[in-house]
Amino acid sequence: MSDDPKTNGTSPEDPFAGFTIDFGGAPSEPSSGGSAAPISFAPLAAAAPSAPVARPAAGGPDDRPAEERDPTRTNVMIIGSGPAGLTAAIYAARANLEPIVLAGAVPGGQLMITSDVENYPGFPDGILGPELMAKFREQAERFGTRVVDVDVDRVDLSERPFRIWARGIEYRADSVIVATGASALWLGLESETRLRGRGVSACATCDGFFFRDKEIAVVGGGDTALEEATYLTRFATKVHLLHRRESFRASKIMVDRAVDNPKIEIHTNTAVEEVLGDAKVQGLRLRDTGTDEVRDVAMEGLFVAIGYRPNTEVFRDWLEVDDKGYLVVHDETGSRIDGVFIAGDVHDHRYRQAVTAAADGCKAAIDAERWLESQGITEASTATAW
Ligand code: NAP
Repeated sequence: MSDDPKTNGTSPEDPFAGFTIDFGGAPSEPSSGGSAAPISFAPLAAAAPSAPVARPAAGGPDDRPAEERDPTRTNVMIIGSGPAGLTAAIYAARANLEPIVLAGAVPGGQLMITSDVENYPGFPDGILGPELMAKFREQAERFGTRVVDVDVDRVDLSERPFRIWARGIEYRADSVIVATGASALWLGLESETRLRGRGVSACATCDGFFFRDKEIAVVGGGDTALEEATYLTRFATKVHLLHRRESFRASKIMVDRAVDNPKIEIHTNTAVEEVLGDAKVQGLRLRDTGTDEVRDVAMEGLFVAIGYRPNTEVFRDWLEVDDKGYLVVHDETGSRIDGVFIAGDVHDHRYRQAVTAAADGCKAAIDAERWLESQGITEASTATAW
C-alpha cells in the first residue's frame, strides 16, 4: 500500500532517491539525482476582473479565455489541492460552477512527497505521487478550474459571499470547500530533513518495501508508531521502537503485539538526537532521556511516527475542531456554517488515503452544488453528468 501520503524514495532499485519538482516558481523538493523527470505545472495566466459571461454547456470543457472570467469571484472556492481538493474541482467544474482552487504555495498535497503509489485504482503498474497529482490537476483544469498556487492567509465566513484572502488578493465565493489536508509531524532535526527519502520516512506502508533485510528504527509511542513497527517487521530484519517516555500513549493491544513480536526491540526513555549519514541513513544518535547519556547506533532507516497535524489554522475561528484538532463534519461533508464544506484528511484521521480523500472531494462538490441550487444561487442543472 502506498497512497498514504507522506514521504519515501523512488524505486526498489534506488530506494533513497528523490524528485525534482518544478511548480513554476514555488519551492522545489531537493533533487537527489534520482531518475524521475521534473514535473511542471503551467503558471497561471494573469486575468483582469470582467463581467460574467454565458457559461459553456454543462459537463464540457470550458474553452473561454481566462480573461473573460472574474478571477476572484466564484460559486465554489476550493482550498487545498490534494486528492480531495482537486477531485472536488473536477466535479464542480463539470457542474459549471467555475471553481477556483487556492492550491497552496506548494501545491498537490502530501502525494507530492510520495513516490510509488501502488494502491490508487486505475494504475495497475503504480504511479509516482507527483505524476498522479499532475493528472488530477490537468483533469480539473480541462473543465475550467482556475488553480492558483497561493497559501490562504485569512478567511471571513461570517456572511455570504464568503471572503478569502491570499497573497494580498481578496476572493469572494458563494460556497467554500475546505480540503487543506494534514501534514505528518517531524522531529525537526536538520539531519532528518536532509535524509528524507534517503532512509528517513514518515510512511511505513509507502516505504517499508524498500527496507527489506535491513535494520531500522521507528520513533514514537502512539498507535501509529506501534502499528508501523509491527508492519515493518514484514520487511526488516529488526525494528527498534524508540520512545521518549517510559509509558506508551498507544492502546494496550498494540503495545502487547509489539512486545510479543521477536523482531521488535523496544527502547523507552530514548530520544533521537541526530540522524547519521551523508547520502543515506547509516545510524542514529540516541539520548537516554533519564540519564542524558548519548550513544551512536548503526541503523539503515528511520520511520518517524509521531502524529499528524491537520492544516486548520485559518479556519479555527470559524469551524469546529475535535479534540485531536481535526475539523468536525456534519452529515458527511457539512460544517457548522451553511455553504462551507469539508473534505479529506483535514477531518479524516481514520483512513488518510488518497482514494478516500478523493471520494470525499467528490461528495463535497455534489453537496456544494445541491446547496447552491437550494439557495437559488445557481440554477438546477439537469444536464450535469457526474
Ligand atoms: P499520537 O497518539 O499523538 O502519538 C504521538 C506519539 O509521538 C506520542 O507517543 C508522542 O510522545 C510522540 N511524539 C510526539 N512528538 C514527539 C517528538 N518531537 N519526539 C519524539 N516523540 C514524539 O499520534 P498517532 O500515533 O499518530 O495517533 C493519532 C491518532 O490516530 C490516535 O488517536 C490514535 O489512536 C489513532 N490511530 C489509531 C490506529 C489504530 O487504531 N489502528 C492506528 C494509528 C493511529 P508522548 O507520548 O511522550 O507525547
